[in-house]
Amino acid sequence: MVQYFNQIFHVAYYLRQFRKNLWLKPHVLRKIQEERLRAIVKYAYKNVPFYHRKFKSAGITPDDIKSVNDLYRIPLTTKLEIQAQSFRDIVDKNVDLNSLVKGATSGSTGIPLTIFSDKKVEHFYEAIWMRAMLEDGLRVQDRMMIIADPRGFPKKIGLLHRLGLEKRKHISIFDSIEHQMTLLREFRPNVIKSYASSLFNLASEFRDALRRLNVRLLFSGAELLNVESRKLISSAFGGELFDFYACNEFGLLAWECKAHEGYHLNVDSTLMEFLDDEGEVVSTNEKGRVVCTGLLNYVMPLIRYELGDIVVPADYECSCGIILPLIKFVEGRSDDFLVAPNGRLIPPTVFFPYPFENFDRIKQFKVVQERKDKLLIELVLKKNVAENGFFEKAEKKVKQLFGEDMKVEFKICDAIPSSKTGKIKKVIRAFK
Ligand SMILES: [Zn+2]
Repeated sequence: MVQYFNQIFHVAYYLRQFRKNLWLKPHVLRKIQEERLRAIVKYAYKNVPFYHRKFKSAGITPDDIKSVNDLYRIPLTTKLEIQAQSFRDIVDKNVDLNSLVKGATSGSTGIPLTIFSDKKVEHFYEAIWMRAMLEDGLRVQDRMMIIADPRGFPKKIGLLHRLGLEKRKHISIFDSIEHQMTLLREFRPNVIKSYASSLFNLASEFRDALRRLNVRLLFSGAELLNVESRKLISSAFGGELFDFYACNEFGLLAWECKAHEGYHLNVDSTLMEFLDDEGEVVSTNEKGRVVCTGLLNYVMPLIRYELGDIVVPADYECSCGIILPLIKFVEGRSDDFLVAPNGRLIPPTVFFPYPFENFDRIKQFKVVQERKDKLLIELVLKKNVAENGFFEKAEKKVKQLFGEDMKVEFKICDAIPSSKTGKIKKVIRAFK
């Protein structure tokens, strides 16, 4: 109970601060961003062995990083580099690992990672999400249904839920679409937050029934939303659709406002650079790969971290008046959707965690749907991990998701080659 109010108090406090930032003068916002940058760089150098070594080997100290313009002096951090470290080397040396919140990335580049944070970081991220959703029209009294990967669901049942006053409900993305519809009818949400593919599956199956739910707001994310699926989802549900760009490492990175002129970057929580293949900053209107420096997570700082997505920074300001700069679109999440033999789309960002619950055993992966009823799963495993039953269990889970008709072949590899930019397309559909 105390913990619950504690959480509400902290999120509300941070939310107030973050909302103010939306309307600041650009130079004031930049000052806040650079203060946070200097602080996290200094902290990481002093307290995180991995970054201490990285700075030393580049011959720099935190004093060399005074502004965003000095960032190029810090070498980039790749996912493979982080994966190769022990947890103790990438986490603040002063904290007890067991006291931390441990999350796994969805492995959007085929390289799964464990990300550490703590309650304070979670509250920051919640406030950043709330800021965007409130701007898009979310109201305190709204009933929100969240259809997502159940690994991220709250572990404890809160007091409000027990009293029947809970205004947020969760549905597992892996539940059957019919069951999802039943729960939607029962809860009657006016806001739904989910993956683009889940909304698309529901929209294609239950067009008329969805209209009757009277959903006002739809928040989609995690996957590339093309114009056709956007139209289908909006017309089926009838609500206004807002697309969000988020990741497990940094929370919400960018979001659509009511003007729908692009995605506003949360530059007060994550500093983002957009680089070309030579590592130079791209011009506006050019494609750049996303490199992030988290400004809020001191438990596991990530500095100049290559996320693996491609975006296009906009050359205009948004008409809504919010000061956060815009990107035009996110392209990197262009993994293909997989299709079950019954025609249902399987979201690429959540497919993989499902059969392989424990990512600790997997170094890299790639999924190729060779035919409608055949999946090839390539894996690079860590040492001595393919114990008895590992593949059988995974195959069973795949069949639960796709149906019994799906054949699965596993192939163990030494490495999965990446493209020049380090991007691996991890989910490929090799048939039309
Ligand atoms: Zn805007």
